[in-house]
Amino acid sequence: MKKKKVYRLKKSVKIFILIFILAICLLIFGIKKLNDYMYTQTYEYKFAQLGYSSENIKLFISKLNDSELNELLAMEFNEFIPEFVNCKYFMYKNLNGYLSQVITQEDDFFKYHGTEGYDYDNIVALTNVGSIFKYYENTKPTDMNKDYAILVNKFYYLSSTYVPEDLVSIGWDYRLGGPKDYKYARKEVVEAFINMWNDAKMEGIYLLVDSAYREYEKQDSVYREYENKHGTKYADSIAARPGFSEHQTGLSLDIYSKECVSASTFKDTKTYAWLIANAHKYGFILRYPKGKEKITGYNYESWHYRYLGVDLATKVYEEGITYDEYYAFYLDK
Ligand SMILES: [Zn+2]
Repeated sequence: MKKKKVYRLKKSVKIFILIFILAICLLIFGIKKLNDYMYTQTYEYKFAQLGYSSENIKLFISKLNDSELNELLAMEFNEFIPEFVNCKYFMYKNLNGYLSQVITQEDDFFKYHGTEGYDYDNIVALTNVGSIFKYYENTKPTDMNKDYAILVNKFYYLSSTYVPEDLVSIGWDYRLGGPKDYKYARKEVVEAFINMWNDAKMEGIYLLVDSAYREYEKQDSVYREYENKHGTKYADSIAARPGFSEHQTGLSLDIYSKECVSASTFKDTKTYAWLIANAHKYGFILRYPKGKEKITGYNYESWHYRYLGVDLATKVYEEGITYDEYYAFYLDK
């Protein structure tokens, strides 16, 4: 009797072990299946299925939010998407704009508006600021709540009735022209300029303001005169259309010096070098830099400075981009 009892016990243990092993196997199998299923639900798997490399996928996940990632998943594979996402100033809302600028050639060579040598960062910059469109098309009134950070360019305009409320006249010491050639700018701009003027003077540099605030009517008559004499194309190349001139903001100053009041040679003066190194400390930036003509819509102007306040001017200066780009990426919310 005793022996039989032991045998039975052993048999039940065996069955138990068998069931246990089976259960473990099923569990392992189930977990694997679940894992496999879970993996098919990940961005890694879905983007890999579309044809993106693991490097591309890491980039997407690090720079895009869920709804953007899902929108990308609904699009076909495009080799240029990772190139644009990788750009510092990539903005998801402009992705289709970037892609529209890329014309794929048989050898994967791309062109922008028929001009060779445009890189992805440049396409991103031009698209972000709207310069892939024709100037003065797709225009909109600028956001007046931005105050000193207001953007006025060939896409953002001021109303014909806008006149800054705090215009003050710029003293004769600080400007070109005769004693009665009054020039005005917003109060804070004039104060900042005088601070800059004093510090520059300590280093033997004498700054002088040429154009400052320009009213809508004045810009209108200047532009119309060019247009009537030489046509719209010429007028656009030489003057802003009324409402689109930064001089109407009262925040822009054309600055020369006692030694040089020539637009063509000012860029070669020590005054210009001083301004490039120091203007941001007083709240001013060079508004139309060299090499950025397509982005700003203006030829290089070594004399045209824009007041933004010290904090913002310093940020734009340190970022090393035009104000149009800075505004599009950081402020146009
Ligand atoms: Zn100017």
